[in-house]
Amino acid sequence: MAIKENLEEILGSIPKTVTLVAVSKTKPDQDLQEAYDAGQRVFGENKIQEMTQKWENLPKDIQWHMIGHVQTNKVKYMAEYVSLVHGVDSLKLLKEIDKQAKKHNRIVDCLLQMHIAEEDTKFGLDDAELRDLLSSEIFGKLKNVQVVGLMGMATFTDDKNQIRREFKQLKKQFDTLKETLPNIHTLSMGMSGDYEIAIEEGSNMIRIGSSIFGARNYQ
Ligand SMILES: *Cc1c(COP(=O)(O)O)cnc(C)c1O
Repeated sequence: MAIKENLEEILGSIPKTVTLVAVSKTKPDQDLQEAYDAGQRVFGENKIQEMTQKWENLPKDIQWHMIGHVQTNKVKYMAEYVSLVHGVDSLKLLKEIDKQAKKHNRIVDCLLQMHIAEEDTKFGLDDAELRDLLSSEIFGKLKNVQVVGLMGMATFTDDKNQIRREFKQLKKQFDTLKETLPNIHTLSMGMSGDYEIAIEEGSNMIRIGSSIFGARNYQ
């Protein structure tokens, strides 16, 4: 498996302004080291324990992104080092990240996850929930978290028009949010199967796993 070649091919095909998050979940340290040696510094994981283990084992200049659903009781394990949390979809979680970040005297960057897929997943906010969260008194008081953008996942389908529609919707939500939070800058959308469409629709952060590291083997 040619991790270096895969990385080069993807990086060669996307604009320089798009950040590539190498999604290394389930993959062994040596695969991450291989990507690191090829120059990759941003890695995404979806389990806090696995990410923490890898943070301990691998070079310290890696930026670790938590891309999966976050359980409130595990936030404490990543608060010391995580550089971006993609999947924030409740005020409760944001409060916990704030609390734990404070203990380490850090400000942790977060993306709010929006529910754009037609699929009935339980994760992600709708427009009304986003508005409620941002206008709440508690949100205004959080000092150790910073919302820097939005994240979303399109429906798992072969229907490219549907995927495009969902990404367009997220971009619109991002542009609308920018009117109230002018400092937001990151729109995390696109995975191995749909990142070209995502970039066409305005993504500036893509999360790519299998196209870099090969198919995952869940046991
Ligand atoms: C696993 C995962 C990815 C990467 O998926 P690939 O199809 O392997 O590129 C991206 N985003 C999230 C949230 C994931 O859980």
